[in-house]
Amino acid sequence: MAQLFFEYGAMASGKSIEILKVAHNYESQGRRVLLLTPLVDDRYGVGKITSRIGLSRPAQVVQPDQDLYATIAAMYVEPPAVVLVDEAQFLSAQQVEQLAYVVDSLDIPVMAFGLKQDAFNHLFEGSQRLIELADKLEEMKTICSFCGKKATTQLRMVDGRPQYEGEQVLIGGDDTYIPTCRYHWYHPVIADRGVEPGE
Ligand SMILES: [Zn+2]
Repeated sequence: MAQLFFEYGAMASGKSIEILKVAHNYESQGRRVLLLTPLVDDRYGVGKITSRIGLSRPAQVVQPDQDLYATIAAMYVEPPAVVLVDEAQFLSAQQVEQLAYVVDSLDIPVMAFGLKQDAFNHLFEGSQRLIELADKLEEMKTICSFCGKKATTQLRMVDGRPQYEGEQVLIGGDDTYIPTCRYHWYHPVIADRGVEPGE
């Protein structure tokens, strides 16, 4: 029986490189893969899975209202051996349910990769539904930028300042993210100020 996997981790935990690796493994055995990436911000890199070490490859863009079961069922002539989803936190709850249905009714494994929670430590919609429905959950680990302990979240930085409120997804912003442990999320060591903003 096929299964629904959710591999989650903080920013920079190597999710994209893992997808590219899995895709390569399947393809080297002559098996077809379907790579999906939800449309969030169409400024750049649309339809691409890009890893931090520079590798990238094209992926099919998932529209916000797209029925993923219908999409995959329509590929019945040459069905994929596996469906790989990058940035799966941006799927809707309904799309996650459609993927579960792909697993159960088409017997195609689906591996979703994404962040568990946003920069304010709340679950993303897609991640919540994946945690609820997945057969297997796996945490991909990375380390806190400040202490080297496991990073469980990410801190949003705008103009060098940590952000503790705002939109879940910043479109078009020049925000960056730092993987952190829970403590350093609220107590980042900001060199130029010498203070911990959480205090
Ligand atoms: Zn830390």
